Amino acid sequence: MRSWLFSLHFRLILGFTVVLALALGSISWYVGFAAQREAEQFQRQVEEARAARIERLISQYYSSRRGWTDPQPAIEQAGELYGLRIVVRDPQGQIIGDSHLKFGSPWRGAGQGGRLFPVLSDGSQVGSLAIAASDAPQNVPEPPLSRLVLATNRSLLWTGLAAGAGGILLVSLMSRRVLAPVRLLNSAARSLGGGDLSRRVPANDRGEVGELSRTFNSMADSLQKAEQQRRNLVADVAHELRTPLSNIQGYLEAVKDGLLQPDPTTIDIIYKQVVQLTHLVEDLRLLALAEAGALSLNLKLDPLVEVLQSSVEAVQPRAEAKGVTVSLKVLPDIPLVEMDRTRITQVVGNLLENAIQHTPEGGNVAVLAEVTSSATARVTVADTGEGIPPEDLPQVFERFYRVDHSRSRATGGGGLGLTIAKQLVEAHRGTIRAESTPGKGSRFIFDLPLARPSGTQEERG
Ligand code: ADP
Repeated sequence: MRSWLFSLHFRLILGFTVVLALALGSISWYVGFAAQREAEQFQRQVEEARAARIERLISQYYSSRRGWTDPQPAIEQAGELYGLRIVVRDPQGQIIGDSHLKFGSPWRGAGQGGRLFPVLSDGSQVGSLAIAASDAPQNVPEPPLSRLVLATNRSLLWTGLAAGAGGILLVSLMSRRVLAPVRLLNSAARSLGGGDLSRRVPANDRGEVGELSRTFNSMADSLQKAEQQRRNLVADVAHELRTPLSNIQGYLEAVKDGLLQPDPTTIDIIYKQVVQLTHLVEDLRLLALAEAGALSLNLKLDPLVEVLQSSVEAVQPRAEAKGVTVSLKVLPDIPLVEMDRTRITQVVGNLLENAIQHTPEGGNVAVLAEVTSSATARVTVADTGEGIPPEDLPQVFERFYRVDHSRSRATGGGGLGLTIAKQLVEAHRGTIRAESTPGKGSRFIFDLPLARPSGTQEERG
């Protein structure tokens, strides 16, 4: 089967043709039927009027002559005038006049199929009159009424055919116009499938097709963005792996060439690089799992306070070494939160690490836990550090994003800490955001949904 047989354009035309044929056919049938019925009724009325006129004529003839004196010529004249056979009988039933006597065809009475009327004079019947269709050749024959019906039907047929052809042409043009965006969409989708993610379609139409075009364009945008991110990720991962790997290679080559001794110091340096690599790979694995929605969370009702306390305690030595104060404030009545304790500890740990890293000596880092009006447990990690420029703030949760681009994993963080924190919070159906005033400090705030509206510590277990 040819593919155009299944095309929307062809189906629209076919559908419209069927509908049009049905509509025109039923209209033609009905109009033809009604015309035939009206014509027959009209014919009957004309015949009745003629019969009444003939009857009056014959009655007047009888009255003016005061009897049936030689009615034959008058009856013949009337028969010729009306194109009908007229037969008159006296009250005894004797034929006294027949318009078709000269044609020699005998009157067969009822068998002739005519109609009978009484002939009245001064209120009493003086004879009877039979009128039937003429069975003799006529000088000037009348056109049959059926010709009118036939002409009407023929006109209807031509008008219907012309309207049908015009309609099909119009539908063909209109459907071509309506389907043009669909064709464009099809070709753009094919290009997209072929790898050209830059293809877009015009989406000016306000109707459903325009809506479809807009949806297509936004889908293409997402695909292009995802593809760009995938490429960036591969490049970023390669870049991040290269530094520790080339460091390890460099040290090993130096040992191999006898330039460095394989003493504990050298081994420790190489070991640190390997640990760094392992961390990076572990971070990437965690991110990949979280992004694929495949991260399994060990959800339990846990007190948030304990998680915060242990996280603060863990970073205390580093903070003290740097001369930064870390404080924890927990507002009363913080209910239990359904969470994976290890993951949330990781989130708080990442935020605290960053805060301490970006806060100069003498500064402080404050952790605050509270319950918001929208029934979430909110944790804020605020520091008095260098802050984040407004243009960088929206990107800090992106993979490998560093405000100071010259820093790397070797010299600072890996650029994955906040991305991981975001993924972990979102895996708990929570949200995370950053606020910052450059030069004054930053605040990282995350909200976790509460397990129940008014849970208490006693509910544990
Ligand atoms: P990194 O491991 O480099 O810290 P993150 O994803 O944790 O990566 O953070 C991304 C970037 O956001 C960091 O490089 C840093 O520039 C910035 N940043 C994160 N936390 C803070 C903070 N508390 N103060 C200032 N800048 C921060």
